Parts: sequence; structure tokens; C-alpha cells
Amino acid sequence: MCSSVSLRDFINDNKPLILDGGLATQLEAQGFDLGGDPLWSARLLHTNPEAIQDVHYSGSDVITTATYQASVEGFVQHLGVTCDRARELLMSGVHVAKHTLQKFISENKTGRIHGLVAGSTGPFGAFLHDGSEYTGNYAKEMSVEDLKSWHRPQVECLTAAGADIIAFETIPSIKEAEALVQLLREFPNSKAWLSFSCKDEKCISDGSLFSDAVQVALKCPQLVAIGVNCCSPDLVEPVLDSAKTLLTPDLSWVVYPNTGEEWDSQKGWLAQVKKAGSLSQFCESWMRQGAAFIGGCCRIGPIQITELRNVLKGPTQ
Ligand SMILES: [Zn+2]
Repeated sequence: MCSSVSLRDFINDNKPLILDGGLATQLEAQGFDLGGDPLWSARLLHTNPEAIQDVHYSGSDVITTATYQASVEGFVQHLGVTCDRARELLMSGVHVAKHTLQKFISENKTGRIHGLVAGSTGPFGAFLHDGSEYTGNYAKEMSVEDLKSWHRPQVECLTAAGADIIAFETIPSIKEAEALVQLLREFPNSKAWLSFSCKDEKCISDGSLFSDAVQVALKCPQLVAIGVNCCSPDLVEPVLDSAKTLLTPDLSWVVYPNTGEEWDSQKGWLAQVKKAGSLSQFCESWMRQGAAFIGGCCRIGPIQITELRNVLKGPTQ
């Protein structure tokens, strides 16, 4: 998709790349009921891929695939399809995103001439569908090899389908990060970012220090960014600050928080309990801290991404 530019050229542009917002948020705004679905938005790759295409963000530099909660095992289990069909479905997430990006480029709505497709893959906890991507508890019972085995088919599919970068998202534990770093080495031509869920101003969800999690990434030159997603925006600055001495010229931050509303496992998002400021309020500080990828996660929609873009890159015509 970005044949004339490398990922490094993108990052060296000195302006952060704008990521998209929550895909499921947009699908729910279109009337799709995804709550309680173990496959979440990934189910639509099977039932309604056009709907996914319609909600990809035209104003972002990076389009993320609808595969966060997708896995070969999950598709087999919840859709009753074969392994081969499950792999095809996972790959189709990349194909849909690439096709959409090409359409945006040809329409030239935002003056863009290129873009990237990030192949999203969530933690094992997302497959469990019990909120454990925000605790990482399952990792205590699993070995690094177990975690690598579980993630391998997803990474195989996303890379084979041509994702420009793999997005390891909402990772709650250092053990799973270690597994992903080891696994990434099996795909030496691939780049990735590694983004953690976090619990407070300096710890990822399993209670480990974010600075210790960053040390895991430093071992792997294929990781171009490390950071946090799906946390409250007001946590981002102190979290990044806690590991600022570890940043290298080859490693940047990736940041895409949610709106800061509270999540209740029974009631869903509690919109009235919004504690934090907006992305556009914080994003310049994040950029100064070294963030090369900035976007939004759950509950962040196209309006906030446009605001973010306007602040960081100036209004588009
Ligand atoms: Zn999220």
C-alpha cells in the first residue's frame, strides 16, 4: 500500500501518524449490536464485510483492521467454520482495510497520497471474552510458549495478507509481551507496535511497571513503537514519563486512549462518568514526549480523530 515510502520514512516525517478511533464504536453508531459477542466487530468479517469497509476512518494515516478479537480458534469455535476458512477471514480483515485505503487515496479527500494498514491483534484475554485483557490474570497459568502458540496463527495471517505493521493491542502483561516479541522474530520482515493496557500512572494492567514492559521491547528492533491504548487519556502522560529515559532513536511511543469513561462489565460504558479531558487537549504533550503514533480506542469516533488531526497537522481542506 505504501510502496513508495517505508514505515521509517513515515515516522521520520516529524509529525505523528494519526491512527483511527474505535471501529466497534463506529459500527455500534451504525446500529450494529456487538455487545456480548465473543468475536465483537470481527464477526462482521464473516457476515457483513461491507459494513467494516464503511466505518474505516478516512481521516487517519493508519487504518486498523477489524481483527482485534479475531483468532483462528475463535472463528472455528464461534462461527463453526474450518481452520482454512478462519484463516481466510482473518486475512480478509487486511484485504478490506487495504481496499478501503486505496479508495480513500483515489478519492483524495484529505490530500493523502499514502497510508498504512495496521493488522490488529488483541491479547489472549480478548479471546476469553471475560475482561481479562485488563488484568492479564490468565498469563499466570500459561507459559511464554503457550502464548506464542496461541498468537502464531493470527500473526501468520496478518503478515501473509500484507499488513504494513502489526498492532499488538491492549496487552496486559509482561509475559504476553515477551511471547509476542519472541514470536515477531519468526517473521523477520515484519514490523509491529506493542501497546499495553494499564491500570495507573506507571503500571500496566498486571501490575508490572510500564518501564519494565518497555525493556522487553528494547530487545526487538522490529518493534517501532511501544505504548498504551484503551486507558483514560489523563494516564498517558505520566505513564510515558515513567519510562522516558528508555526511548531510543529507533523506538517511539504509540498512544491511543479511550475517552476516559468508565466501563462496567454489566452495563457497558458509563458515559456519565467521564473523568478525563479530550485527546486534542493532550496530544501536543504526547507528541513532545515522543509519540509517533497517536489515535483513539473505544468510544473515540471520527469527530475526535478529525480534531486530533487538526491540532497536530493543521486543518485539511
Ligand atoms: Zn479500547
